[in-house]
Amino acid sequence: MAAAAPDGPSCYICLDEGPDDAGKPLVRDCSCRGDAAGFAHLSCIIKYAEQKSIQAEDSINAFCQAWEICPNCNQSFQNQLSLDLTSAFVSFADKARGYDAENSTWEGMKEMIALKSKIKAIISFVRDRVINNINLVMEGKMLSEKLLSMVDQMKKDLKMNRWEHMPSDSYEYRHNKMLCVDFEAFGYSLIGKFMILGREKESLKTALPYFEKARIIYNLFGMDENSKLMENDMNMARKLYLSSETGLLENARFIYENNTESVGSASEVTIQSGLDYAELLKKSRRGIEAEQLVMKLASGSRRVHGLAHNCTVRADLILEYFKVRFVVVMMPDKLGIGLGLGKEFQALRYENDGLISVVTGPITNPRRGDNERIFHVASDLIHPTPGTPVICHGLINASHLNGKVGDVRAFHKNGRLAVHFEDESQKPASVKPENLRIVFDLPTGG
Ligand SMILES: [Zn+2]
Ligand SMILES: [Zn+2]
Repeated sequence: MAAAAPDGPSCYICLDEGPDDAGKPLVRDCSCRGDAAGFAHLSCIIKYAEQKSIQAEDSINAFCQAWEICPNCNQSFQNQLSLDLTSAFVSFADKARGYDAENSTWEGMKEMIALKSKIKAIISFVRDRVINNINLVMEGKMLSEKLLSMVDQMKKDLKMNRWEHMPSDSYEYRHNKMLCVDFEAFGYSLIGKFMILGREKESLKTALPYFEKARIIYNLFGMDENSKLMENDMNMARKLYLSSETGLLENARFIYENNTESVGSASEVTIQSGLDYAELLKKSRRGIEAEQLVMKLASGSRRVHGLAHNCTVRADLILEYFKVRFVVVMMPDKLGIGLGLGKEFQALRYENDGLISVVTGPITNPRRGDNERIFHVASDLIHPTPGTPVICHGLINASHLNGKVGDVRAFHKNGRLAVHFEDESQKPASVKPENLRIVFDLPTGG
């Protein structure tokens, strides 16, 4: 075997240059620089950290330091190396645990300290990356929940009552503060953070109570700065939620319903906020609800405010636009106009028992009626665009859906269309275009 270059890196712990016994190479991910400094085998760092933890007695810092900080540059381990080391730390603490009657609190806390260390490694790992590793985010959330349940158990075991009346330098007070601040509030705030990183629309809102719980704990101990940080996190979660489609929609509905209740359904303010809500419904492809709401608002506005009123004019304009049935014509070359796919037309009516669709287009932006022409197209070449009200017909295997009205929500790759039904007890279905007919006139509805 060739001798390694004299200045090649070697493990600062075992001094070997090659891989370890398991064949794993040298690693380094901290602030050590240069060709040789700071390299070690993962297995060697783990053995070293285990020794340090065993010697730590009852200092939390000494117990976790060697798992988190490189002894050469005194900076934190990073990235995968920090994930690997904190995972090993959790296994070590798990094995090392065992209730020592003399010092059971400290023994019980070891696992919590290691868990916290791993959760911190996960949060920096996922925060530093543009694309979230969703499995890691879920693991972080799960470990935070586990940490909270351990805190809960320890509080029960210790039966430390009335500690809040003890002097703030007493053992009881300090111990409770550590449990509540370092572990409990930490656990709550991290669950909130992992929820935000998960970016599930619903979880953005459910993150709020977790930050709030952490904030209350920080307040209780007069930790204003931490409690301020929780407020910032809550504001961020709110902002993210409100900018999500469901958040915007929910907010608009809330305003509309609130206005209806406080100033009445005929008020100009209510009608305008209802129209805002209807526009968001349409954007969310909930075409039927959107159109029926505008019909209701428009007729109320005409009756109360008159035809020329701003409210009525806006409602009529929106209604006129919502009533346009946009379609995509497949194989537009059959129309002899040699267009690419994806051009939109407006469907006007059916002929020949629905076998032929009469369309006008293609539609340009801005729309110019004088450039459009009328075409007669076989109806199975017509795809209603998302948000269009449709009715099912001619289905054989799913005949219970025939006659059901819903709106198109999406195009599927297999050429089918996703339809959500008006009757919400009916599950959404994936329907072939030939089994759908456009509904031109919706009943006024509720
Ligand atoms: Zn080594
Ligand atoms: Zn280093």
